[in-house]
Amino acid sequence: MPKPFPLMVLTPEREFYNGSAVYVGVNTIAGSIGVLADHVPMVSALDVGTLVIEPDEGTRRTAFHSEGFIEVRPDGVYILAQACEWPEEIDEKRALEAEERAKERISHPDEELNLTTMAHSKVALMRAMTRRRIKSMSTTDTK
Ligand code: ATP
Repeated sequence: MPKPFPLMVLTPEREFYNGSAVYVGVNTIAGSIGVLADHVPMVSALDVGTLVIEPDEGTRRTAFHSEGFIEVRPDGVYILAQACEWPEEIDEKRALEAEERAKERISHPDEELNLTTMAHSKVALMRAMTRRRIKSMSTTDTK
């Protein structure tokens, strides 16, 4: 039996997850990582990506996570993200519209579009595409 550890996932709006887990996976700016109990302490910045949580009891689930941080401490794992959503919470139409807006801004930069706003548009595109991918993974899941 894998060993459980306390996991807390917070966004500015809510406590997304607060409980026991045996595995958590996220996408950091250095790549994806999976954390089990007794992982070496660390802090890393989160990219936009997939949050995988395997609760102590129950099945492994995949959610969306936005930019933030993961901190692995001896007393548990803490994730702070700008936004997190379970697949059923993701509004597909909103994500598609956000994707189209970001693509439009990237492909037709106006005179005021500088490097910072271009970078923001690219991250917005990543958020929208990742949300749509997580949503479609859950709707095509036949298990
Ligand atoms: P949009 O341009 O549609 O606001 P965004 O990527 O800029 O998208 P975020 O800044 O990541 O949005 O999130 C702002 C809030 O809106 C968060 O609470 C987030 O959970 C929620 N949110 C954003 N997009 C969606 C979506 N497609 N479905 C459900 N909730 C969403």
